[in-house]
Amino acid sequence: MPRKGYRKGYLYQEPPGQRYCVFHKALHPLEEFPPGSGGKPSSWCRLAYTEYRRKEREGVPRAHGSQAYRRIKVLQGYGAKCAACGNTDPLVLQLDHVDPELARQQKALCKERGRKFSTFAYEDAIARNYPDTYQILCSNCNSRKRLDVGGRAEWYAEMLKKE
Ligand SMILES: [Zn+2]
Ligand SMILES: [Zn+2]
Repeated sequence: MPRKGYRKGYLYQEPPGQRYCVFHKALHPLEEFPPGSGGKPSSWCRLAYTEYRRKEREGVPRAHGSQAYRRIKVLQGYGAKCAACGNTDPLVLQLDHVDPELARQQKALCKERGRKFSTFAYEDAIARNYPDTYQILCSNCNSRKRLDVGGRAEWYAEMLKKE
């Protein structure tokens, strides 16, 4: 008796002895699935776990000339630390244009030449030996800088005091 289920937004049917593998988006024999939580077989087959781990390992950035490589150079050049709050988590650190006007000009230039803005800024910072027109900010402090214009932080603080 085929079992009907609803997974990842669409209806699927599992014939007896088979199970739908969410990773491969295909049916495999039931014995290919390791036991999962709650006594039910896992939603990924065994091979899926192996493939996923391998992909993850290969995904570790190291290639010269890649975006990750440029990012590492930039973080080393400026010191991998948020200039505003001191956060050192490399996953949230960003290269910031100290002067937003310079960022706007670069963005326009990149659009004109069909270049990626973040790559352009990384390459510019590296080529000019890390000038102080850039700084490192964490994503929080970068958002604050972008949003806190015209006393907006004070305005929110006032509004939050009200009922
Ligand atoms: Zn599978
Ligand atoms: Zn910060």
